[in-house]
Amino acid sequence: MSWLNEFVRPKIRKLVGKKDVPDNLWQKCPSCEQMLFHRELSDNLHVCHACGHHLRLAAKDRLTLLFDNGEFTGVGFAAVTADPLKFRDNRRYTDRLKDAKNKSGEKEAILVGHGTVSGQNAVIAAFDFGFMGGSMGQAVGEGLLSAARAAIDANAALIVVPASGGARMQEGMLSLIQMPRTILAVEQVREAGLPYIVILTDPTTGGVSASFAMIGDIQIAEPGANIGFAGKRVIRDTIREELPEGFQTSESLLDHGMLDMVVPRSEMRATVGNVLALLRDGRTKRSSESGIPVAGISATNNAQIAAAANRADGK
Ligand SMILES: [Zn+2]
Repeated sequence: MSWLNEFVRPKIRKLVGKKDVPDNLWQKCPSCEQMLFHRELSDNLHVCHACGHHLRLAAKDRLTLLFDNGEFTGVGFAAVTADPLKFRDNRRYTDRLKDAKNKSGEKEAILVGHGTVSGQNAVIAAFDFGFMGGSMGQAVGEGLLSAARAAIDANAALIVVPASGGARMQEGMLSLIQMPRTILAVEQVREAGLPYIVILTDPTTGGVSASFAMIGDIQIAEPGANIGFAGKRVIRDTIREELPEGFQTSESLLDHGMLDMVVPRSEMRATVGNVLALLRDGRTKRSSESGIPVAGISATNNAQIAAAANRADGK
């Protein structure tokens, strides 16, 4: 039989040609459980057409979505020791890393690019939740540092898009050190007089929400994202009280003054571009304040931009 497998089958495959069919044609919406066809989903920027739920995006898709025409130059970062603690739980950390790399096609849980967002010069660092829960280890810290340096070198704004469960436990203390490290990187961007914008996506928790992710000049979030430090269940069991509905969602954080705006994915690029123009030269300020709609941005969003700009001016 071996000649069938080794000789005939490859010949037939070659003849027929490998069909380019994705593994998962259908995906279930995590919110309303509607079955979503992959093509419709990608046409709709991975937002459920039935309930508006914003599904998670891979880092590469995020950069493509935010940069003009999906074009950007990749920003590399220094290599780190792969498994400094020789960590092993029920599996080796190195094996988990290998799997994550194969599955995501990325080297780490962060991807950095330089380009323009609605014509504004920007460096974007996007997290990939699919890569070990977007956890922040040494490599992710390096990625953020490189992003900050690239922004300063190119006189560009720094935009970070977290999607992370927090620190990478397999790197122990070395991952916790990334918290102050990334804050210092942001400080350098500030000292250079450049804007720093955070776009919080689902989920942003733990050591990531406790460091660079909450100190943007302007804090934006996608609708319905889970944002917090400790998980809901942990908090409920600690304080022994029922938590209000919508606890730790973007909308509740906006109501409680933790965010400047909640922006749907379809309006994100135009909004970020407008915010950057406003912060860098005040060009669009008048149009925002007078309520004249800016292309691609809804009226509510426009009002939020004006309010956020006034707050940033007061800083
Ligand atoms: Zn849905």
